[in-house]
Amino acid sequence: MSDVVQDALRRPLASLRVSVTDRCNMRCRYCMPEDEYVWLPRASILTFEEIARLVPVFAGLGVTKVRLTGGEPLLRHDLPTLVALIARDARITDLAMTTNGLLLATQAAALRAAGLQRVTVSLDTLRPERMLAFAKSARHADVVAGIVAARQAGFGKIKLNAVVIRGFNDDELGDLIEFARTHDAEVRFIEYMDVGGATRWSPDQVVSQQEILRTLTRRYGPIEPIAGDGRAPAERFRLADGATFGIIASTTAPFCRACDRSRLTADGTWFLCLYAAQGTDLRERLRRGATDAELAGLVRETWQARTDRGAEERLGVAERGALYRIDSLRADPHREMHTRGG
Ligand code: SAM
Repeated sequence: MSDVVQDALRRPLASLRVSVTDRCNMRCRYCMPEDEYVWLPRASILTFEEIARLVPVFAGLGVTKVRLTGGEPLLRHDLPTLVALIARDARITDLAMTTNGLLLATQAAALRAAGLQRVTVSLDTLRPERMLAFAKSARHADVVAGIVAARQAGFGKIKLNAVVIRGFNDDELGDLIEFARTHDAEVRFIEYMDVGGATRWSPDQVVSQQEILRTLTRRYGPIEPIAGDGRAPAERFRLADGATFGIIASTTAPFCRACDRSRLTADGTWFLCLYAAQGTDLRERLRRGATDAELAGLVRETWQARTDRGAEERLGVAERGALYRIDSLRADPHREMHTRGG
């Protein structure tokens, strides 16, 4: 049984992003541009059993959607075992993962068999030399192989996340749509966000939803919005030829009022907003022997008091720059996007 808990702005607790590791095998300039990082201590990382105890606590309070993320989730050894543990809870009706795809080709079938329902692969560029320059990875072909393998493993329409950055990949919007079309996938263009980790962010590099639509209209003609439920982060659109795509306009048109998402870091810190300064330490309570009812009480109370509207508040900041400088990220790695999960 679940009992849907609402926050102070009447937003339900419906979706949980679970970061399974803060480590990543890419170094995207908009997320992990530094040479060195402070990692979460190994002993603090939740075991699969600990994650599998927490997820049902959230499910009992209304969570139906779980997305595994990171860091790079496929770096976590034996991820299908965690998938199977989470999938056995029938209240979780949508179990998904966001990955950079580098290791997906070898793991797609096992993940699918374990009960993973959906996969989103991050793919910012179709040009290997750009990926090398921008993400310090020469393994573009592995990402494409991962997308192909995920389809073969039986995942339905795969989503492709592309962060659009002026002067990097803003000339590839149509090409990404064409790539998605040939791979039975749907691309979601993401506005560059000034989150922790994006220490080189500046407003002039953001390509807005409006600009993305203008560019695509020049290539494809009129674009029609697709009505949604107002809760998904992406607004979806259809081209005259039937191809669909999404845009996540978190920077220029944030959707905080409909945000039902929260985030659990790999060390069990629970954040109510991507921009939140503080999280709630669930690991400590879990390891000190808190019961499920005690954990549920804490989650319920914390969610009920939630008023966060981080992205909307950022919109009101004059002279906006990167959210954090590198020294404050080093002082608390929980502020990093790769720790919180995207
Ligand atoms: N490693 C996995 C991946 O690459 O998909 C999962 C974690 S990653 C942090 C999740 C998503 O966050 C990716 O699609 C990534 O592109 C996005 N992301 C990271 N930094 C971002 C930023 N500054 N603005 C917008 N999206 C960002």
